[in-house]
Amino acid sequence: MQGPAEAADKPAPRISFVSLGCPKALVDSERIVTKLRAEGYELSKRHDGADVVIVNTCGFLDSAKAESLGAIGEAMAQNGRVIVTGCMGAEPDSIRERFPDVLSITGPQQYESVMDAVHRAVPPKHDPFLDLVPPQGLKLTPRHFSYLKISEGCNHRCSFCIIPKLRGDLVSRPAADVLREAEKLAAAGVKELLVVSQDTSAYGIDVRYAESDWRGRAVKARFFDLCEALGELGIWVRLHYVYPYPHVDDVIPLMRDGAILPYLDIPFQHASPEILRAMKRPAHGEKTLERIRRWREIAPDLAIRSTFIVGFPGETDADFEMLLDWLREAKLDRVGCFAFEPVRGAPANDLGPIVPDVVKEQRRKRFMAVQAEISRKRLARKVGQRIPILIDDASGAVARGRSKYDAPEIDGTVHVASRRPLRQGDIVTVKINRADDHDLFGMAV
Ligand code: SF4
Repeated sequence: MQGPAEAADKPAPRISFVSLGCPKALVDSERIVTKLRAEGYELSKRHDGADVVIVNTCGFLDSAKAESLGAIGEAMAQNGRVIVTGCMGAEPDSIRERFPDVLSITGPQQYESVMDAVHRAVPPKHDPFLDLVPPQGLKLTPRHFSYLKISEGCNHRCSFCIIPKLRGDLVSRPAADVLREAEKLAAAGVKELLVVSQDTSAYGIDVRYAESDWRGRAVKARFFDLCEALGELGIWVRLHYVYPYPHVDDVIPLMRDGAILPYLDIPFQHASPEILRAMKRPAHGEKTLERIRRWREIAPDLAIRSTFIVGFPGETDADFEMLLDWLREAKLDRVGCFAFEPVRGAPANDLGPIVPDVVKEQRRKRFMAVQAEISRKRLARKVGQRIPILIDDASGAVARGRSKYDAPEIDGTVHVASRRPLRQGDIVTVKINRADDHDLFGMAV
């Protein structure tokens, strides 16, 4: 039998971890990494020399699947001992076909199965004297911002999406669990929380808004109540994946009053009623332009970001022109646009008529040109203003950061010149003196 001294001498097993996909997958990765570190595993930056490689895959689009298979192939070539998890794990056959020797394949959120696979591949080093995990868990994002996942799965059945097949129906976390995690993150120095899920505004519907105890009072698992409580933490709270249901109106005053950031990420996807119906989008019947106008009356500095799909099966020239008109009217702050790509197993693939690739691409370019103009004008209005900027990275007299109106990775950047050294996570007031199509430039004051 191995004694404690021998166990302490043995180096800790090393795991190389690849995280692909959306912020929700990143949160899964963080949970797995936190468990690994809690059990004494070390993380390795390189595949070669690691005891095992874990690849957390994305299976949403064919291009994401190809990237996932590429990452598995690289891990197999450089290491050979590979555990696959995540969305693509829901289709194990397509992985086994290419890589029959992977050690294990599990689907999204199957944390325990991933840990079992790791234990089988390389048992943990037992070291009861070391508490390796800080109370807030381990983050893969920089320390100053963190994703906060409030639910798993989705009750909708958008025709282009297979996420409900992969992740199941909506399962909301109790409000107190979410709030305690948020509190720990704030205490550990996180300055910005990015609330994520598949459908943030549907939070709590599955548990009938069940109450749980937080700070000595009952908090309902309901969109508004959660936003209000998160607003008490005194850090930036940003909402992603919100659908324009009527009850979203209730949180706009919280944004006006500064309790949460004046920012809404709403994946509108289209504006033509025909296409929205064919897409089976949540809240597709809402009069969105009217809602946006009312929201901006209440919170004039509200920033709205969205994503759109052009070239969806059946999209006519008239549907597309309607979308452009809507965009010109809505004047959204930030927009992403994708040409429709069929996802294996999605009902949209059976719809028609198919829009040719060259038309899709022309429409995407036209769409982005219209948006660039809107975005430039909206950013130009910031010139001359003094706005708080959260610094993402800094070196010497220059730094890059974001305002309340920009989420990390998807929105623009604020380039900051400063006479004093700035550090990641600082929030500084910056006088904006220039803007381009996407970014702002200014001086720390
Ligand atoms: S809302 Fe639609 S697109 Fe989003 S996860 Fe649910 S089914 Fe997919």
